[in-house]
Parts: sequence; C-alpha cells; structure tokens
Amino acid sequence: MDFGTLLIHNGHDYEETTGAIGVPVIQTSTFAQTDIDAHQEYDYARSGNPTRKALEDIIAQLEGGARGFAFGSGMAATSSVLGIFAAGDHVIVCEDIYGGTWRILNTFYRRFGLEATLVDTTNLDNIRKAVKPNTKALFLESPSNPLLKITDLRAASAIAKEHGLITIVDNTFATPYLQRPLELGADIVVHSATKFLGGHSDVILGLAVTATDALGRRVYAVQNGFGAVPAPWDIWLTIRGIKTLKVRLDAEQETAGKIARWLSTHPNVAAVSYPGLETHHGAAIHARQSYGGGAVLSFKTKTTAVARQFLSKTKLAAPAVSLGGVETIASYPVTMSHAAMPLAEREQRGITDTLIRISCGLETAEDLIADFDEALR
Ligand SMILES: *Cc1c(COP(=O)(O)O)cnc(C)c1O
Repeated sequence: MDFGTLLIHNGHDYEETTGAIGVPVIQTSTFAQTDIDAHQEYDYARSGNPTRKALEDIIAQLEGGARGFAFGSGMAATSSVLGIFAAGDHVIVCEDIYGGTWRILNTFYRRFGLEATLVDTTNLDNIRKAVKPNTKALFLESPSNPLLKITDLRAASAIAKEHGLITIVDNTFATPYLQRPLELGADIVVHSATKFLGGHSDVILGLAVTATDALGRRVYAVQNGFGAVPAPWDIWLTIRGIKTLKVRLDAEQETAGKIARWLSTHPNVAAVSYPGLETHHGAAIHARQSYGGGAVLSFKTKTTAVARQFLSKTKLAAPAVSLGGVETIASYPVTMSHAAMPLAEREQRGITDTLIRISCGLETAEDLIADFDEALR
C-alpha cells in the first residue's frame, strides 16, 4: 500500500463498538478490573491508554518498526530512549544534534555517568575513531539542524552494527513519509511530533519506534517507569495531524525547493543549505536515503544587518523557534536555538549571525517569495 493510503487506512479506520471514524479520546486515569486475579490490557493510564495505543501503533507502522511509544514531548522521547543505557556507557552523537538533546546529555545524563562524544558524522571515519570499549550507541540526525547536514544513515548504521552499537535516529525533519531510518539499518527512531507529524503548531508531543520487540521492552520499561507520557487530547491532535502529513509535506517541500532556488540567486544572500539542491554537499547521499529535500532550509545573508532586518520585516514568516507547522517560521539560531552555545563553537560549526532557518508552511510560494524579497532589500 502506498504511504499516502497508509496514513488514512492504518488499522484505526473505525472504532469497533460505534463505527466512529475518529479515534476516541479515552480521558481516564484508571480502568476497572473485571477480574482482580486476571491480567487485563489496560489498568492504569501511565502504563497504557487505548488512545495512546492507537498513535503508538500508527507510528510503528509508518516507520516500519516493531513497537511505537508516545511521550509528552520530543525531548521526553529522546530522554526516555537514552534511559535504556547505564552509568559507564558511552554514546557517539552527531555534532549538530538538536540543542535540547545535547543539553540533556551534557547535564542530566552526564551526572548519571552516561558519557557522550560529539563528532562530525558526515565523515564516517569519525564514527569509527570515536568507538571505545564502553560505547553502546550512535545517535544521529539527518538532515541536521540548522545547517541541514547529511549523514549517510545506511553506512553509519552498518559501522554501528559492526561494533554492536544501537543506532538511534532523530527523524523529526524528514518524518517517515520522506525517510525511514529503520529500513536503512537503524534500531530506534525518535520524533518531535510537535513539528511535522502534529503539523499545526498546536501540540507538544514525542514518539519513539524500535525495530525489535526486545528493544521495545527496554524502552517500555522507561516509558512506564519514568512516566513522561502525553495526554489523550494531545495524542488525538497528533493522530489527526498525521492523516494530512503527505499533502502538507508535498506542498511545503515544493515551496521549500522554489524558495531555495530563488534565494540561491539573490544578491543579498551568500549561501543556501537545502538537501534538495543539487549543489548541497550531501545531496547525492540524501537522494539515496530519502524521498525528498523536505520543507526546511537555511541561508546566510551577506551581512548581519540584512539577516536582522529580514526577521523584523517579513510579514508572512513568524519569527519564532520550532518548525513543521502549516505557517512559515523563520528562526534566528544565534539568539534562539543555539543561544547557549559558546561563540567560538558556534562559529566553528558555521552557525553565524547571518544564518536564518526557514520552515516552509502552506502559504503560496509566490507570496512568500514576494514577502522575502521585500524583507531582504
Ligand atoms: C523540536 C525538536 C526536538 C525536541 O522536541 P520537543 O517536542 O520540543 O521536545 C528534538 N529534535 C528535533 C530535531 C527537533 O526539531
């Protein structure tokens, strides 16, 4: 079945007792036990809830995994997955990982003795060199944030497998519509469903999918024990958002391509990063492992003044953090997502004062281009 059809007919087409086409919101904390001696599927909503189960089944199916898990945020998903490791373990992490992921590793998990090394995973040799006797996992993001760097997920997962490491991929930017890391050899996928899966800038939610039941049992132990689970209404909004993922991303991605090509010729723009552009450093690898360039791009203006002016003058892009909504968002990484990063480290990674990241929404591309042209003058 084509992915677009699977988004609509995903095993939760009708609710059995009423025929309802929408997944019911089961707003309850506990479930009456019909037989106090017998195990029943649901007993307490931290451990499981039918609304949550529907979303967990849907994301597992879309990513092609064995088990899905829903969490209260993308960071709750990532932190809970990292919770399967122990003090003394070591994790190799791609250099431009999501800021929150770096923060939880560098603060919370460091205090608990989980060690992390950041490397530039666009060069696979750096992964091999970073492996130590206590290395247990490789944590990747491709395309990465905010420079849209591409890691070869198939080759990186293969290196991880040689060394017995679990490969975890944050697939937030691509979504399973455009990229399915488990098919490329990864073991666990995590998502901020706050972004494209929810798709409407109205919910904070996270997801994880494991390739095997065995890994699923380890993640479930953390989900149930740690308890960072989402509320039924937020789950319902995410299920609804997922139904339109294909049409949204098709349109947003087409707009991103148009804007990236237009920006590439603009006199006040110095560089454009978009994996769908043939000139992008990782375009060939990205084309091999995914089904499109996605809806996020970043660009550098020629001067800082132009970047700052763009953010104050654009009328159609919201100057904000986050991405993946139906409304176009323009982020300024130096004062937003990467404000906490020391200047030298930022500059070394190319996160300069001239860098702007755009998440394309559903506005008409020509309107966005006209607005951006005005704002860049
Ligand atoms: C937003 C984001 C997260 C964190 O998700 P929250 O839902 O904000 O907790 C993790 N990874 C990536 C790539 C993100 O963009």
